[in-house]
Amino acid sequence: PVVTRFAPSPTGYLHIGGARTALFNWLYARHCGGKFLLRIEDTDRARSTPEATEAILKGLTWLGLDWDGEAVSQFERADRHAEVAREMLARGAAYKCFSTQDEIEAFREAARAKNESTLFRSPWRDVPEADHPDAPFAIRVKAPREGQTVIRDRVQGDVTIRNDQLDDMIVLRSDGTPVYMLAVVVDDHDMGVTHVIRGDDHLNNAARQMLVYDAMGWEVPVWAHIPLIHGEDGKKLSKRHGALGVEEWAAEGWPASAMRNYLARLGWSHGDDEFFTDAQAIQWFDLDGIRQAPARFDTKKLANLSGQHIAATDDAALVAQIQEYLSLSGQKALTPTQQSDLNRAMYCLKDRAKTYPELLEKAFFVLTGRPVEPDEKSAAALDAVSRSILLELTPHLRNASWNRDTLEAVVGGVATAHQTKLGKLAGPLRAALSGRSVSPSVFDMMLVLGREETVARLEDAAR
Ligand code: GLU
Repeated sequence: PVVTRFAPSPTGYLHIGGARTALFNWLYARHCGGKFLLRIEDTDRARSTPEATEAILKGLTWLGLDWDGEAVSQFERADRHAEVAREMLARGAAYKCFSTQDEIEAFREAARAKNESTLFRSPWRDVPEADHPDAPFAIRVKAPREGQTVIRDRVQGDVTIRNDQLDDMIVLRSDGTPVYMLAVVVDDHDMGVTHVIRGDDHLNNAARQMLVYDAMGWEVPVWAHIPLIHGEDGKKLSKRHGALGVEEWAAEGWPASAMRNYLARLGWSHGDDEFFTDAQAIQWFDLDGIRQAPARFDTKKLANLSGQHIAATDDAALVAQIQEYLSLSGQKALTPTQQSDLNRAMYCLKDRAKTYPELLEKAFFVLTGRPVEPDEKSAAALDAVSRSILLELTPHLRNASWNRDTLEAVVGGVATAHQTKLGKLAGPLRAALSGRSVSPSVFDMMLVLGREETVARLEDAAR
């Protein structure tokens, strides 16, 4: 069975690159009917914080990337990592190195002076146990000096590294603490990880991690190192947008489903498909579709997908998502009445909104009560002539049957009587009904508000 994992270091929020890595692992596991595990790589005690772990878990949850089982803390597994280091020693795949920091420095200094490689070559590699001093030691892996190491990568192809470029990496420091590079391999092995999908900034680590797999005789997982994400200009990601944390995306009001769709398209493709559902993504996702070129962040594309996701979501679900957005962004929650009003109006709101705040702006007319407070632009549309026409409209509306055709005929009739166009009347009507210049069509507003409320708002405005 396929087992993937997301292994963030809790040193900051979950940014776009991490979120995409998590998504790819999640999609691949779900596609294969396997497991998606979460490991918090908190071995760097100075830089890891519980707040960052919290932010990462929250970000994943918001994105809807559910992991299987409990999140694993790498730091808590330090004893097991040390045990493996000693096991490597026992197998003769590693050795005790008594060189001190000063000696290593001196070695490098001399190498630099002679213009030779500064890779440390420990003098203890082949010294028999009997000749060991009674002193603190580090455990180093006995790396091959000849030949080459090939990383078979599903995205990058075969990556070959000459073994004379590898050093005898320390796996256990002289103070007994395991190094990160060992911890990753031991954890992946113990967690049964079969596929490692991660950023290609880890490609070089893979060569060193292979040393541990080989030393222990463990099966090497399938590697897939995915290219980094660049900014819209092809350069490094800027704060706006890509470098933002996932929680900021949430607070800006992008639907999580649109983020999943968009992130999936950052470096992976399935034919020409841009818009897709989770079910489709899970059905289609495979490692072959991951591209080798760096992906470019594109806010317009995200906005476009986001609009499509909002339009495709059913009304009640959208209301719930908006309620969640309001809470995440620290705004006042909708009352039960507002929720049902919003639900009723949703059919004329969700078609062109790209984000939740855009949708809410259009929804102002149904969320506000009387008297409607017009903003400056709307107030200007309500001049004396327009107000008298609105007032003239009210008896007709009282008697009209409440459907679109009749309402259009009634409003059109009054417009004609005043030798003006329907379009000229729309401005004041919109101002009276919504107090805003962004809203659904006046007829949609009338239908949603109903006769009583419509007439009352026109009378308010005419006063
Ligand atoms: N902890 C590493 C990071 O956050 C990931 C290591 C890995 O995926 O092997 O970049």
